[in-house]
Amino acid sequence: MGKTGLLLCVCQGTCPSFHKMDVFEVLNALRRENTFDFVALHPQLCADDGEEYLKTLTKNHEIDKLYVAGCDPKMQSKMYRDAFEESEFPREKHAGVDIRNMTTKEAIKAIKDLKKTN
Ligand code: SF4
Repeated sequence: MGKTGLLLCVCQGTCPSFHKMDVFEVLNALRRENTFDFVALHPQLCADDGEEYLKTLTKNHEIDKLYVAGCDPKMQSKMYRDAFEESEFPREKHAGVDIRNMTTKEAIKAIKDLKKTN
């Protein structure tokens, strides 16, 4: 069976949109419940090195679904398009959720809801 992963993307960690949540607690809460096969935090997936990270990661064809919690999902799709194309990762295997301005609890719930519906 394929693997599911979660990436948290937080605009270099300096954007006020992510200051109400404890990003490590968001990840740890989901890890404790084994919600995903793997989780990671990246400071800026839409920067050049973020694109490289996505490309390298998604060349792994064992990944069935890659969830990204960060900014607006439509923005995510546009910004990750080139990386997914280069790694031949089908776009529909990416599902995003906007967690900006959420608290830790709210972000955890939003991510769990995303997984339930995708
Ligand atoms: S992909 Fe979205 S959340 Fe991540 S750094 Fe870029 S704008 Fe911020």
